[in-house]
Amino acid sequence: MIREVEYKGTTIKYNLTRKRVKNINLRIKPDCSVEVSANSRVSLEYLDSFVIKKGDFILKAFEDFKKKQSIELLPKYTIDEFETYVFGRFELTYKLFGQYRIDKPQLKFRKMKSRWGSCNYVKCIITLNKNLIYCTKEQIDYVIIHEFAHLIVPNHSKDFYNIVSGFCPEYKRIRKEMAGILI
Ligand SMILES: [Zn+2]
Repeated sequence: MIREVEYKGTTIKYNLTRKRVKNINLRIKPDCSVEVSANSRVSLEYLDSFVIKKGDFILKAFEDFKKKQSIELLPKYTIDEFETYVFGRFELTYKLFGQYRIDKPQLKFRKMKSRWGSCNYVKCIITLNKNLIYCTKEQIDYVIIHEFAHLIVPNHSKDFYNIVSGFCPEYKRIRKEMAGILI
């Protein structure tokens, strides 16, 4: 069960598992997810306040994991290689989406802080994060497919992910792996 608490302006989500344990166990993973286990007698209110009490510790751990990841982050390609690859995949993805008869989108690059790509559905523009240069080809392919799928379904509904999974069946795993990369 996923629960959410607010601490110093940050939403901390934690995954609660009920187990036959004596104490409340809290674990923070490198992908910045929080696992909490407790026995069924401990109330949800108590668990929320427990997580809030550990707020400073949790936020500090998030910071440390992110710092560590940014040190490890190295570009995987030269800028030329990266652009050639992305333009090629963009053309290919446009062809793959041929059955949907979409207009060919314009491709733009920008440095973005919180997302890998965006799609302006109305203006038919796909913007990709320059930081994709740190990502694997599989991850780049997924982001391009994701943004193309927004030209058909603008939100993240079930219909949207049905389209994405048609072109990228492994999208859930890839998305999870990308969540751990700091941009
Ligand atoms: Zn999206």
